[in-house]
Amino acid sequence: MKKEEKNKPEERKIDNKKYGKCEDIKSIPQTPLVTGFETIRIRIKTELMSVQECERLRRLTARDTRIIQDYLRIIYHNEDRKFFYKGELKPLIKTDGKVNKSLLDCLTLTTSSKSENKIRSSVPHDLKKRYPHCSHDEFQECRNKATWVYESWKALQRTSDKELSRPQFRKKTPRQLNKGIDGRGTLQVHYDPDNAEAKLWLKLRDSLDYKGEGKKKHPKLMLPLAYSTYHEKKFKLDDIKTVELVYQSSKQQWWAHFKKPFSVPSYQSTNPPAVLGVDLGIKKTAVAVLLSSKGKVTMDELCFIVNKERQAKIFRLDKRIQSIQRELETRIMDGHPHNQLNVKLSQLRTRVRAVREQELGYAVNHLVDFILQLKERYNLFVSVGYPKDIQKNHQRGSGNKSLRRMLNMWCYRLFITKLKHKLERQGFEPYRVVAVGEKHTSKTCSRCFSKNITRSSQGRFVCHQCNYELNADLNGARNIAKRLINYALEPVGKFKEKNILLDTLSGDFHDLKQYERFAPLSQWLKYSSGDTSFL
Ligand SMILES: [Zn+2]
Repeated sequence: MKKEEKNKPEERKIDNKKYGKCEDIKSIPQTPLVTGFETIRIRIKTELMSVQECERLRRLTARDTRIIQDYLRIIYHNEDRKFFYKGELKPLIKTDGKVNKSLLDCLTLTTSSKSENKIRSSVPHDLKKRYPHCSHDEFQECRNKATWVYESWKALQRTSDKELSRPQFRKKTPRQLNKGIDGRGTLQVHYDPDNAEAKLWLKLRDSLDYKGEGKKKHPKLMLPLAYSTYHEKKFKLDDIKTVELVYQSSKQQWWAHFKKPFSVPSYQSTNPPAVLGVDLGIKKTAVAVLLSSKGKVTMDELCFIVNKERQAKIFRLDKRIQSIQRELETRIMDGHPHNQLNVKLSQLRTRVRAVREQELGYAVNHLVDFILQLKERYNLFVSVGYPKDIQKNHQRGSGNKSLRRMLNMWCYRLFITKLKHKLERQGFEPYRVVAVGEKHTSKTCSRCFSKNITRSSQGRFVCHQCNYELNADLNGARNIAKRLINYALEPVGKFKEKNILLDTLSGDFHDLKQYERFAPLSQWLKYSSGDTSFL
């Protein structure tokens, strides 16, 4: 699959001559650095904690979720209103879509006489009354989370034509705990290299009350982390500024999410442009094909990713789930007991999910390696096929077929997100990796766009219009790559006037100016559409 790239410099020279426009790319202004956050997840060793401590962690997150929801409700309620603040009439939401935080505090938190000349004995939405055992710092952290959620929704709404539904939380939403300066925050990190059970501990200052203890007493909650040498390499303890405590219900585990900032030089290339089309499949985990201005795909521009053993395992597990599901249905119809089958089913689902996750991580790593090789030779863009009708499938009840599809959907999402994050760490700006709708890509000829085709069981694809014949997965991947190029050259429908390209997965919009470097590629596409020598 991956072959050594030799004898390439010669070809590159020719390309640069042919596509002279590449020289102009330098003039496009770009940020020299790609910055972002990397999340490092460390499991909390709940097995070392007492039942009370676990319960307290659960109660803490549940309460925070309620407070964040309350904050959001208050923001929604007062969205269009103006208030007298410091002698002036001010709106709660500023013109740039940001929430006026201190004004929000005036609406929600009373202040005691301790803070001089700012006594507020009554406020319209008294949160301190509703949550008497919550400290000021905790309120602030919940408020920050709520305003962040609101502001990101507002920013997304601004670029979208559709009416986006307001953010709500059905699941638990953690607030972001801050370390603060000199340990004054709600979070403290305790490093104990001699402790055999857990080297790293998080000390939480929370003001939840113990049952049966005095209200004023607030013992600190200690959380042991599964901190390993892997994490040691990955980040320094000084990097820890904030943490979110997240519960993963599928595994029944608690995790500490640390955010670590990074900045790497942005990937820029003066080589000829090329698009890597990535098709995610069921039998093969992923297939990647490079469409370049050279017009010929060679073996080292192809990448089939599949771990056959793992795929077989997934297939077997899926089959068993199917048969158990069928048995379950008949038992329910006949009114027989079926509790044990339910348990078995959920166990199997957890296992299949774990195997899928493994396969996914393997595929992402493989693909990233492949992309890193290609990026030396091309000005590379990545187009990943993504099923668009994900919403519809979610609503279609819990039948076996749709559930299996949902699992796949979930995999698509995770795959693309992971790929994006990994590539971002390598300096790939977000617009270089785009999720495009994959509808019809498997049923269309990638050369003449005819739908008069047949697909054989061996995975051959034959077009009856232009007699094009190739591997069906390759055809899909080629279509996905072409779709990005087509969108970039001729944006469809409502995006046309705005001159933007929509990322199907994230809902992000990319300015088409960024794709100006596609121009040489477009010429090639038009030119080679009837060329049979391709592939
Ligand atoms: Zn054709």
